[in-house]
Amino acid sequence: MKVMKFGGTSVGSAERMKNVTKLILGPEPNFVVLSAMSGTTNSLVEISGYLYSKNTDGALEIIGRLEKKYRQHVEELYATEEFKKKALDYLLGTFSYLASFTKQLFTPVEEKLILAQGELMSTHMVAFYLQEQGVNVALLSALDFMRIDANGEPDQIYIREKLNAILDKTPGAQIYLTQGFICRNAKDEVDNLQRGGSDYTASLIGAAIQADEIQIWTDIDGMHNNDPRVVDGTKPVRHLHFEEAAELGYFGAKILHPTCIQPAKFANIPVKLLNTMEPEAPGTTIDNREDPGEIKAVAAKENITAVTIHSSRMLLAYGFLRKVFEIFESYRTSIDMICTSEVGVTMSIDNTAHLAEIVADLKAYGTVSVDSGMCIVSVVGDMSWENVGFEARAVDAMRDIPVRMISFGGSNYNISFLIKNEDKKRALQALSAKLF
Ligand code: ASP
Ligand code: MG
Repeated sequence: MKVMKFGGTSVGSAERMKNVTKLILGPEPNFVVLSAMSGTTNSLVEISGYLYSKNTDGALEIIGRLEKKYRQHVEELYATEEFKKKALDYLLGTFSYLASFTKQLFTPVEEKLILAQGELMSTHMVAFYLQEQGVNVALLSALDFMRIDANGEPDQIYIREKLNAILDKTPGAQIYLTQGFICRNAKDEVDNLQRGGSDYTASLIGAAIQADEIQIWTDIDGMHNNDPRVVDGTKPVRHLHFEEAAELGYFGAKILHPTCIQPAKFANIPVKLLNTMEPEAPGTTIDNREDPGEIKAVAAKENITAVTIHSSRMLLAYGFLRKVFEIFESYRTSIDMICTSEVGVTMSIDNTAHLAEIVADLKAYGTVSVDSGMCIVSVVGDMSWENVGFEARAVDAMRDIPVRMISFGGSNYNISFLIKNEDKKRALQALSAKLF
């Protein structure tokens, strides 16, 4: 069985929902995971905001607006009065449920109940539509098998056992359909896997049922080996190792969050990124296969700050780096790149909210300097150190560009350069010309 996940925009209108049902029907049953219709989770967050501040009118106004939108979707989606009524009954039940929260104490427990409604509505709407088309669809409630433990981590053993038991009791469906994002927590309350969590759901389900593949469908153009806005002649990336995808995750490269693909990686299930606007295109496959000697992609991230601390006390000392890192930790600031010499260390950060405090604290240990307006440019691919010449090619491409730092050897899949923001375009073009 394949797991097919569709994001909010892919189910964002009646037309889009109809389109999805064309993609999911095939000779074999598929397991379909849906996000809420685009904009809905944001509206639910907004409703919760009004309820926290006890603004009943504000909450009711957003609920009213949502209801109007969904009534329109129902008109457009279903052909028969019978199914229009079925869907509307379900949705109106949801809207009066939402309105009922204006009469109670509002806490995070209630907020999570509200946030769960988006995925419940989208899956019910698609289930009714499939039924109207005569498809045998099994709508499974994610609340019956998706669970996080007391630390907020998915309970993969529970999920596997529960879901497989449910599937055993539900044989013969053409489509198994469920909600992304929502789950129960250790206290059995309704909870969720955080914003964007539907991808995580798909990956967890894929691992639980040992799916043949996990497909992540969005409506964006697929991954390219460089930024098409900056470099001409970029090519689609057809294949990535899970670790390469994780490296690219930092650059927001239209890739799943590394945490979300972890269950698929460990269960050794390929993840495919596909485009609903171009369903025939091969997309990008992410799995555990290596492509020896291949460079896959170049990515960049701007507005990076480099912090250098220089101290003769660092020479031959131990524990110096720990003290330095602890300062960043105490301000909840994550370090992305680091480079050290015997008497100095440079770290890059992208969150500068506490830069002033960090610099002040670092001064206790050495001389500190800060460079802002920097850009990380990263080359991702088979960069294992035994490969001769790959890092040389990357470094050679940067020959005319001032490089603030270079990081290589942190993983087998990456070499990164820190340069000035204004040199980004030149760097990306030069790397493209040298590497691809
Ligand atoms: N609907 C949720 C969100 O908007 C989850 C998801 O779409 O992945 O964050
Ligand atoms: Mg999403």
